[in-house]
Amino acid sequence: MLYRVMDKSQLPALVRGFMESYEVVAPVKRGERYVFDTVDSPDQIALDYPQTASSAKKYLFPPVEAMMRFDARANLVQDFVQEVKPRVIFGAHACDISGFNRLDLALAQGKYTDPYYAARRAATLVVGISCMPTDTCFCQLMGADEVQFGYDLFLYDIGDKYLVSMSSVEATNILEACCEIAEATDDDRRAFRLATRRHQAAFNPDIPHVEDVPMLMDVFHFDPFWDELGGRCLSCSACASVCPTCYCFDIRDVLQEDSDAGVRERTWDACTSPDFALVAGGHNFRPTGRDRVRHRMYHKLNGFMVNHDRMLCTGCGRCVAACKADIDPIQVLRFFDEKGARDDR
Ligand code: SF4
Ligand code: SF4
Repeated sequence: MLYRVMDKSQLPALVRGFMESYEVVAPVKRGERYVFDTVDSPDQIALDYPQTASSAKKYLFPPVEAMMRFDARANLVQDFVQEVKPRVIFGAHACDISGFNRLDLALAQGKYTDPYYAARRAATLVVGISCMPTDTCFCQLMGADEVQFGYDLFLYDIGDKYLVSMSSVEATNILEACCEIAEATDDDRRAFRLATRRHQAAFNPDIPHVEDVPMLMDVFHFDPFWDELGGRCLSCSACASVCPTCYCFDIRDVLQEDSDAGVRERTWDACTSPDFALVAGGHNFRPTGRDRVRHRMYHKLNGFMVNHDRMLCTGCGRCVAACKADIDPIQVLRFFDEKGARDDR
């Protein structure tokens, strides 16, 4: 990995450099909240955001996406050719880049590649930015507070400058063409170390560090805790919508009016939806809130780990804010903690 240093005053030039060839998506302030949105000026970007309400997942995996066109009468199927815009997601935190990397494992690096996701991912550059944790961040417990890959540039705030980690030729060329960059000095490296320590010390100590969470998910599978937690669930799917790593979808055929022709499209779905596990014949494999919430947490904290060696949660804390029923992975960690499973090292 190559590192250079740039003055913070150079940032607008870098954004404008990307804008010459890419659509730029970045965090912007909307009322009291922050969201990822398309920007047409560097002035619109709010890089000091605590967390966006939802993740930038929608730019790689849209909420509704056409998959193919069909004409049932003519027995025709036509692959839908996606128009994929070259895009930069600018100012993503490490946890969100880690979220992209986890989506890659499920959608782009498994046995079957999802061509829609893969095309968008390939056309997207990612510029990361360092951050300070909020009270609901627990990315350090999910191994997502730092990323070593999955981005093109990563900007570490070291005071008046950024230490820039350069990971792709494409983005490095733009950086070098638009900005004055320099080799990192010993002072820069010291500033980086201090900033990293400040970041690590800022996590909320009230969110317990529990060892062996995947194993505990098995041990406490039938605990009444899940009845209590699931009983509160409103089945609103807000948690899955804001989550950077939820990737379940449904597929539906949408017919044009008075026609047998239409579009097959996929839409986001969520395992907290009552119909999610309803199959032909009317049987529902997860009929209760307990079954659904437990399944969601189980996939996040155990099931994905078995296949991919990491959890399907980045600890971004968005579901903590989104869920009106106080159901989130922190509640699960607290439950295990109360059961005496805390790591007191
Ligand atoms: S489950 Fe919650 S904390 Fe974990 S990645 Fe999803 S939204 Fe973030
Ligand atoms: S866990 Fe919370 S956010 Fe998710 S579906 Fe249930 S009530 Fe909605």
